[in-house]
Amino acid sequence: MSPYKTLLQNPLSEHLFDLPSLPMDAAGLARDFQRYYGYTLGRDSDSLAAYYPYAALAITLRDRLMERWKRTRQAYDGDKCRRVYYLSLEFLMGRALSNAMLNLGLEDALTKGLHDLGVQLEELAENEPDPGLGNGGLGRLAACFLDSCATLQLPVRGYGLRYEYGMFRQVIEHGAQVEEPDHWLRDGNPWELERPEFTQRVQFGGRTERYLDHRGREAVRWVDTCDVLAVPYDLPVPGYRNDTVNTLRLWKAAATDDFNLDEFNAGSYTEAVAQKNQAEHITMVLYPNDASENGKELRLRQQFFLASASIKDVLRDWTRLNGEDFSRFAEFNCFQLNDTHPAVSVAELMRQLVDEHQLSWDTAWGITRETMAYTNHTLLPEALERWPVRLFEQLLPRILEIIYEINARFLMEVERHWPGDNERLRRMSLIEEGHEPQVRMAYLAIVGSFSVNGVAALHSELLRQGLFHDFYELWPEKFNNKTNGVTPRRWLAMCNPGLAGLLDAELGGDWMCDLERLEGLAPLAEDAAFRARWREIKQENKRRLAEVVAQICHVDFPLEAMFDVQVKRIHEYKRQLLNVLHVVHLYNRIKQGDTRDWTPRCVLLGGKAAPGYVMAKQIIKFINNVAAVVNADPDTAGLLRVAFVPDYRVSLMEVIAPGTDLSEQISTAGKEASGTGNMKFMMNGAVTIGTLDGANIEIREQVGADNFFLFGLTAEEVVATRAHYDPNGIIAADPALREVMGLIESGYFNRFEPGIFDAITLSIRNPHDPWMTAADFRSYVDTQEQAAAAYRDPERWWRMSILNSAHSGRFSSDRTIGDYNRDIWRLQTITPRD
Ligand SMILES: *Cc1c(COP(=O)(O)O)cnc(C)c1O
Repeated sequence: MSPYKTLLQNPLSEHLFDLPSLPMDAAGLARDFQRYYGYTLGRDSDSLAAYYPYAALAITLRDRLMERWKRTRQAYDGDKCRRVYYLSLEFLMGRALSNAMLNLGLEDALTKGLHDLGVQLEELAENEPDPGLGNGGLGRLAACFLDSCATLQLPVRGYGLRYEYGMFRQVIEHGAQVEEPDHWLRDGNPWELERPEFTQRVQFGGRTERYLDHRGREAVRWVDTCDVLAVPYDLPVPGYRNDTVNTLRLWKAAATDDFNLDEFNAGSYTEAVAQKNQAEHITMVLYPNDASENGKELRLRQQFFLASASIKDVLRDWTRLNGEDFSRFAEFNCFQLNDTHPAVSVAELMRQLVDEHQLSWDTAWGITRETMAYTNHTLLPEALERWPVRLFEQLLPRILEIIYEINARFLMEVERHWPGDNERLRRMSLIEEGHEPQVRMAYLAIVGSFSVNGVAALHSELLRQGLFHDFYELWPEKFNNKTNGVTPRRWLAMCNPGLAGLLDAELGGDWMCDLERLEGLAPLAEDAAFRARWREIKQENKRRLAEVVAQICHVDFPLEAMFDVQVKRIHEYKRQLLNVLHVVHLYNRIKQGDTRDWTPRCVLLGGKAAPGYVMAKQIIKFINNVAAVVNADPDTAGLLRVAFVPDYRVSLMEVIAPGTDLSEQISTAGKEASGTGNMKFMMNGAVTIGTLDGANIEIREQVGADNFFLFGLTAEEVVATRAHYDPNGIIAADPALREVMGLIESGYFNRFEPGIFDAITLSIRNPHDPWMTAADFRSYVDTQEQAAAAYRDPERWWRMSILNSAHSGRFSSDRTIGDYNRDIWRLQTITPRD
């Protein structure tokens, strides 16, 4: 089964594992670096490839993680502790090198050691590809969570897929998005450790068959399947200076070595081998859709592949230590499902327990319902995954039978609770009836889990009231909120060394592990000398950002201007359009000479559009065309600049967040589940202009209404306005908006491309516009004017900026993970021993 079935006859001597600890000083690190560069990688002075010095440094650091990694594993195994498995189709980890350096506490020693060899550390770190195994917020959240789990010394393992091609690279040509493949593994990945000895086999296709087991009970087996091997690759996840190194296990699909013997014997050897390629396609590419379902068969294959391989891996570990006794399995294991993408795990755990480990249905269901927990990430109906029953029949026939059985028993439970309420049965069924019956994955996740959580207070409340109301009435105790957070190691300590230095000096030591200590900044906001230092750090960060914008976008951002930033996936609900309408309004004011009390502004936008999302791509083109006109007009000099930064990704955000003055969080209220970009900006001293949506509400509560620029309809008002929404009336009644629309509709921003923005203007004028852009325009423009006025008053602005950082402690993912652990996971911390 596994290509590594040959085992050692005699176990290796224990002495083999007595490794001396590795040197952590500058000279010792430099020696290792030299050895890896010259010997392991075999490079010398004729190689100018920038990748290899980076790789040599990565291996040097990896060695230091390796011993801590093993000790962490041994501590978890030795304690036989309860564990959590975080199942996610996406992990947007960002670069590993500077993170490893920070967490191991090796920055100074390495800087010195390399400097003595004449090597510049920063330049070298830039050669690490940014692993983009995620779309946006959901994948980045998974990465922040793993970081916090390791720092809090919680036994949590991530499970995901090792996509050969990550998120596409975005190039802008003539203002439009062009996608290029991201072959991030081309040069190899020094951080991963292949573990072929733990290869699993995943079944697809085939049929089911009833038989009598050895005890004479009727049982089912899944036969004639096309199997695919799942080969694990482990990535180390270091905690902050605590000797814990957790694991992210990513599965790669590989062909089995069994051949179609008929073809083989008929002499079609090469055809038989070529067919194996199909198997490897499963982990070839990440689906680049954010917050929308996709419906492609390959995507369902990916989902089941992750679920099946990961659960087998966990059950293998369990039976290794406990044999076939599952009576305490639920006490020691918990799966956290990151959205519905891995929801098929509910049925797959049932299948493995019942079919492969011969548990009774009731026992297996009891275990499943005590081990699965589900996190919902969106209220958008288009993101709710449903798979055609027909597809399940072909691809996962046994899983479909199990879903039917779960559904039949569940509907009996509903019937007992609401006798005779057939409408409710139809609404709550795991199967949506109709022309093409579908499996509702979110409902499968809810029925099979003991915990269902949203990701911000408002979002969790809207789930209870709306989307999942029936389920909330049935099981109110399952529903809870876990407001998102971000790791302050990457999003403050690593990305903002200037501010980190100031915090070290003012707050002392490890504030990044106890972020509430930032509250200590609040009194300093009243201190003019402190504000001056704060401003200087921000200016230096703005200089760094302006350099990037100049280099990539060829747009000049003067440092005294307000840096007004919106970077995130391009989606209509996030309302990049509203931002651009404001830019056009400012431009129009400039053209009319209405520039008294003007605050110079540099507006930066960035983000990827799903390749099939036509409107999002038009929005990108629109932003770029507006930027081109504004920047080329001499009247705007010193007043307004606009740029679209291509290929927004984690490593770019690490430069953008510290250099931002004003953070744009302007989604239609009730649409953004939480947002995490908002938190990164806040931590780095940006002030938010935003709607009462997602975690913005909690950000405003923390920082106080005076330090947040609030505008727009509330979620309730959005719902109430829908029935009589009249965007054309609003446009006609507001001279500023009328002029903005008139300018755009006149073709001012598409002189030689007639009609290309018609869909955009029509969407704004559509009474059924779900995002209600026109409804919030006036309030947005007025609030932007308040922000501009505040920026002209430096005392006030820098006070606000400091208070935003000071009150951002709640948005550390350490707090979030603490909440998950207290309410859902209930893990003990485990400290590795020497
Ligand atoms: C934080 C982050 C996101 C999420 O941003 P939102 O504003 O919450 O949508 C997306 N992509 C990247 C690269 C990020 O770092």
